Amino acid sequence: MNKKNLFFPFPASVLFATLIAFLFACNGKDEAIESVVPVTNAPEPYEQNDITGEITLRTDCSGLDIHWEYEGEDGPDHWGELCDTWDCDGHKQSPVNIVPPPTRQLSKSLRFYWKNTATNIVNNGHTIQYNIDQPAIATDGSYISLNGQKYYLLQFHLHSASEHTVNGEHYPVEIHFVHRNPNTGRLAVVGVFVEEGDENPFFEHIADTWPHTQGSYVTTDTYNPNVLMPAGYNDFLKAHFWWYDGSLTTPPCSEIVNWMVWSTNIEASHEQIEEMEALLHENYRPTLPLGSRLVNAQ
Ligand SMILES: [Zn+2]
Repeated sequence: MNKKNLFFPFPASVLFATLIAFLFACNGKDEAIESVVPVTNAPEPYEQNDITGEITLRTDCSGLDIHWEYEGEDGPDHWGELCDTWDCDGHKQSPVNIVPPPTRQLSKSLRFYWKNTATNIVNNGHTIQYNIDQPAIATDGSYISLNGQKYYLLQFHLHSASEHTVNGEHYPVEIHFVHRNPNTGRLAVVGVFVEEGDENPFFEHIADTWPHTQGSYVTTDTYNPNVLMPAGYNDFLKAHFWWYDGSLTTPPCSEIVNWMVWSTNIEASHEQIEEMEALLHENYRPTLPLGSRLVNAQ
């Protein structure tokens, strides 16, 4: 039975009074009130996952979660065999070894619009990840503008040792800042190497909240993630990075990533690096062939 039939025998005034009484009766019950609010053609909000750290890509076969890790039978050499829908055996995989090109070309328009944010910390068994607590996407949260397109900051996470290498050398830690273009689904990941040097005040600040066991952890802390970027990162002329076309470095290894790996590093003390290494358990994928791709310098 639909509502029209139900109310049809009553005059409009009775119908109106009934509706008012109904609304009062439903006061505080959102689901009931929603049922009498007319549906509009307002654009669909972005999926919740678009603005959290979860990347909504298929990571399963036949609805089953596939176990993978960084060594042994479920390690990187076998990721391509674990699931047909993964791209881990593709030809545009990441990470790669970077041989710095001799010349720099200012060809990528890149600007950071990161803001103060709270983060939800997750130890997912593969990495320590900081999910950005974005406000409603319409109210511009943290994003980068890359060649005029907005990529929203979803999360950043850590690898030890670094995944990308430079002239064959690893750094002790690499940070990945993962952004997503909600219109195209493509990602833009900013990679920053951490080298041994001075104590890093921000790592010191968050060390107390580093989760040593799997799970998610909420803090009330807010900060701008740019505390983990090298100096001059948002200056078109000074910012120096390598960029190439690649993939996620974890299953499903989707080849949808604009990689931008910074050539200037941040520092952390020997003790801080040791602590991160103990936490991250060598969670890096070995480098893959560059193939026909180019690494460009900007
Ligand atoms: Zn990563």
